[in-house]
Amino acid sequence: MSESYREIVLQRRPVGQPVAEDFAIATRPTPVPAEGEFVVRNLYVSLDPGIRQRLSQVDSYVALIELGAPLTSTTLGVVTASNDPGIAVGEHLIGFNTVGEYSLCRQGPLTRRVDIGATASPSNHLSILGMTGLTAYFGMLDIGAPKAGETVLVSAAAGAVGSIAAQIAKIAGCRVIGIAGGAEKCARLIAEFGMNAAIDYRGKGLKALTAAIREAAPDGIDIYFDNVGGIQLDAALDCLNLGGRVSLCGLIAQYNLTEAPAPLTNLFKLIAKSARIEGFAVLRYTDRFPEALAALAGWTNDGRIVFREQIEDGVDAGIDAFLKLFDGRNQGKMMLNM
Ligand code: NDP
Repeated sequence: MSESYREIVLQRRPVGQPVAEDFAIATRPTPVPAEGEFVVRNLYVSLDPGIRQRLSQVDSYVALIELGAPLTSTTLGVVTASNDPGIAVGEHLIGFNTVGEYSLCRQGPLTRRVDIGATASPSNHLSILGMTGLTAYFGMLDIGAPKAGETVLVSAAAGAVGSIAAQIAKIAGCRVIGIAGGAEKCARLIAEFGMNAAIDYRGKGLKALTAAIREAAPDGIDIYFDNVGGIQLDAALDCLNLGGRVSLCGLIAQYNLTEAPAPLTNLFKLIAKSARIEGFAVLRYTDRFPEALAALAGWTNDGRIVFREQIEDGVDAGIDAFLKLFDGRNQGKMMLNM
């Protein structure tokens, strides 16, 4: 084990779109675990858009990151030192940890052992078998509750969560329409992820987007799986069918806003259509992770779910990787290979 390691820290609270100067790389002495602690050498770090929320002074369901403190996220690592009788050196663990080459850890609700030989790449434990796949699974199946023959709309459908959520809806026998930015991503929704139709939201206001959804779904939308919020949510509300469900997963369109988001104009549709909108945090489902992981692994192994990973190399690439993630330039589940 080396005597020092590097990690990514929050240097300044971003205002609007984060910039490189908001972050720094700090060198720390490799920690010695106290009683109940262990040290992990991180192999992969998951970079999630939700981290943006925790960089600013806004409410979030995970704690705000303090100035000067390391960013935190889910990591996959190997234990290099342990003072916890339940954790052995050499074990591979997932956990909610600091973003750096090493993390000083305690067992928490997200700590779990993984068999890194069981997947095509160990990184899969942070994508399809990580919070990404789990979020898609519970958000689509528990909140959306799809039935065969229904029509499902998914936003950020080329993204990590959206692409998996859409494929789960297809497995449930639904007709699936994806929304993404740009012609290339829209082509991928159909060719790569098997969606039935694609809508490019770029350059479209509320009216044009609503018209595009109506054209793709002439019989209306039964489920809207939302990663975005803003006018995509507003347009989807307007197209809901009787008994429709909105699974509110994320609000990526407002993470970088410096003003209050525009109000929704179609909320009345929830009343008119006896529809419901329900947010969820995947962290609430930890007891059911084994069920979801078994299903996701099965669908991946039999080729019913495909997924993309974008892995950037090393802590030095980390700040740029975060910037790409925060402005939506990533082409798959964003991770750092440590
Ligand atoms: P990805 O980075 O893989 O995909 C996000 C995509 O969102 C981008 O690729 C981009 O696609 C689109 N996007 C980015 N900015 C905007 C914008 N301003 N307006 C519209 N679209 C935008 O992210 P994930 O798939 O990992 O995460 C998706 C959502 O899931 C996020 O909102 C995240 O916070 C949420 N989440 C929720 C969890 C929960 O427990 N509820 C847990 C984990 C994630 P395009 O080029 O098509 O615009």
